[in-house]
Amino acid sequence: MRILIWYRHDLRLQDHEPIYNALQAKAEIIPFYCFDERQFGKTSFGFPKTGAFRAQFLLESITDLRHCLQQLGSNLVVSRGIPEVIIPKLAQQLNIDAVYFHKEVTSEELAVETALKKALAAIKVKVNSFWGTTLYHRDDLPFSLAQIPELFTNFRKKVEKDVIIRPIFPSPKTLPQLPEINLGEIPNLAELGIEKPINDERGVLKFQGGETAGKARLKHYFWEANCLKDYKQTRNGMLGANYSSKFSPWLAHGCLSPRYINDEVDKYEAERVKNDSTYWLVFELLWRDFFRFICAKHGNKIFYLSGLQGIDIPWKEDWERFSLWQKGNTGFPLVDANMREIRATGFMSNRGRQNVASFLTKNLGINWQMGAEWFESLLIDYDVCSNWGNWNYTAGVGNDARGFRYFNMTKQSKDYDPQGEYLRHWLPEIASIPGGKIHEPWQLSGAEQKNFGVSIGVDYPRPVVDFFKSVKANKKVYNASSNPSSS
Ligand SMILES: Cc1cc2nc3c(=O)[nH]c(=O)nc-3n(C[C@H](O)[C@H](O)[C@H](O)COP(=O)(O)OP(=O)(O)OC[C@H]3O[C@@H](n4cnc5c(N)ncnc54)[C@H](O)[C@@H]3O)c2cc1C
Repeated sequence: MRILIWYRHDLRLQDHEPIYNALQAKAEIIPFYCFDERQFGKTSFGFPKTGAFRAQFLLESITDLRHCLQQLGSNLVVSRGIPEVIIPKLAQQLNIDAVYFHKEVTSEELAVETALKKALAAIKVKVNSFWGTTLYHRDDLPFSLAQIPELFTNFRKKVEKDVIIRPIFPSPKTLPQLPEINLGEIPNLAELGIEKPINDERGVLKFQGGETAGKARLKHYFWEANCLKDYKQTRNGMLGANYSSKFSPWLAHGCLSPRYINDEVDKYEAERVKNDSTYWLVFELLWRDFFRFICAKHGNKIFYLSGLQGIDIPWKEDWERFSLWQKGNTGFPLVDANMREIRATGFMSNRGRQNVASFLTKNLGINWQMGAEWFESLLIDYDVCSNWGNWNYTAGVGNDARGFRYFNMTKQSKDYDPQGEYLRHWLPEIASIPGGKIHEPWQLSGAEQKNFGVSIGVDYPRPVVDFFKSVKANKKVYNASSNPSSS
């Protein structure tokens, strides 16, 4: 029996059910990855679909996967093109009996699965697909997909109470040798039409793709730096490597499985300490599960302008203001620092993401899909469900029953960066403004500007909008749209 393992967003050996099952079946195993050329095109608003930071992380992850497979006596076959065309050809060429892979939930990925299944059925090759991206298994949920609660808290409470997390599948110890086969070259960035990203030393971490580096990051964060015990207190930070786990890029590419992280949390609780922080990391992983299940439930709705709630808001497509947001030139330091960080590094903290998304939608009133696509393009940790789910949520069209909610930029800035260190890190032109004054540079008097060597409106922009007036105006639009009869 010969089984082809089609790697997708599951670039690991540990806790990999398709590989495990193929081994149990004593099959010959052909691990395969296809760089799907459609993923290197443009988004609907014209941004690169896979930007340079993620592309680099992906290449590193594939290289690491190949290396890990080689160490076990196998290898990774690599190709470029359209998986649903290439895999059936390979299947015929190599007399493959079955293709195993992890299921996905969103439309582009499902379309590929459907086309592949059809093509394989026509040549009588079996298909076996597995659920493997979440902490809780889909089949163990205490409700059907259609009945998944729309509110996170309801989902979490029921799942935590009723479901046991399945044990992980161990990494294989050895793997069968590949038959005579063309392995294919892993392309470089230039071959994918992407320029090498510049390594900005100001980034939170030098993210390195692959299961090996992912496990090393976990070892460092949990065991060496011993940060897990303080996670709940530090997780809202914005500066430095260890305020949060930074596991997201490895989770998004499947280099780390959430069940493995959960196992390590259990170990940490047994060997070091069990507290609110150790619980909270798993709590956050549940948000990730939640968005994946919600996407599975609602299909394409997550991508609609009116979102999961179907609210038709007349969003603006104001490219001039959008460009100020993208470049970090809005005149609101918290927004600008975060937008410069993501552009320079492909990463932004959760606190930052919530704030910039709120600003785009609740102050500028700009189409949230533009923001979601900009994130899709840049983020190293882009995960279709987490990104679009969170954008739905922050735009007020997703799983949030609380209507129009906005973040107060100045308050957030003072609360989460009291000394302004994060702002100074990313905004050199206002770094000379001392103390708390950096949170509101537009308030500086002429004398203060002179004193600090900063001219507002020249060195750093004046605010693009009046904060509270813009909130008020957008709230009115939102309320009229979400409850048309009351307007
Ligand atoms: C507008 C917006 C877009 C986002 N886009 C993405 C995305 O494309 N990919 C992505 O992985 N996360 C996304 N997030 C969620 C969150 O910001 C990141 O997961 C987190 O910042 C990653 O850093 P970390 O690994 O250090 O997180 P930690 O705080 O250490 O959390 C541990 C893990 O829990 C999960 N997690 C934490 N918060 C969330 C959340 N709100 N939603 C879903 N999962 C969560 C992540 O897998 C994360 O790695 C987005 C949030 C917002 C507000």
